[in-house]
Amino acid sequence: MKANTDSVEDAAEKLFDKGCKYQLRGKHRKAIQYFDQAIAMGAGTTSYLSSLGLKGRSLMSLGKPRDAIQTLTIAIEDDPDYRSAWLIRGEAHCAIKKYDAAMRDMCNACGDWSGVSPEQRQHAYSLLHDLLKKNAFVCEPCARTGKKPDKANAREIKKQNLAQVKRAMSSLDFKHYTVSHQFSVTCAKCGSETNIYA
Ligand SMILES: [Zn+2]
Repeated sequence: MKANTDSVEDAAEKLFDKGCKYQLRGKHRKAIQYFDQAIAMGAGTTSYLSSLGLKGRSLMSLGKPRDAIQTLTIAIEDDPDYRSAWLIRGEAHCAIKKYDAAMRDMCNACGDWSGVSPEQRQHAYSLLHDLLKKNAFVCEPCARTGKKPDKANAREIKKQNLAQVKRAMSSLDFKHYTVSHQFSVTCAKCGSETNIYA
């Protein structure tokens, strides 16, 4: 039984590695074929999540943000701590102009830095900053109700949120993984706060 598990693990790893090689060479369709095969080996393998994440990345490169969102949602549901998936899904939501969803993704991408490179971290922050500059933040439960926030209130909260993220960015050391402090963004509809670890 053990040998069998090991061979599945090895096969998935090999397929994943092949996908990575094609992705690095910009051959995204080919890369996706291998990532799909690695994913088909099952959720129990070590390369399962990375295969989903990198498939999402290749779909973005092919200009298919909707497909990317679908793939990355599977990854996020499997492991909400997989920060890169939140980050790429946030970019995908930006690409289809779903800015509210993009902001929530970015907040989750910034949630905890284990497994996220300093570059990704910096990238997530600058995207969050740009999004907060243009849009009022709306939390997940409020987003489901679909109602628009009160305009004057939203403008004030937008200013406040932007100031928060700016302050965090100026005090951040992007080269280190350690969580230095915490800040929050406020929902423009209900006033609830979403914590972000910087
Ligand atoms: Zn809310």
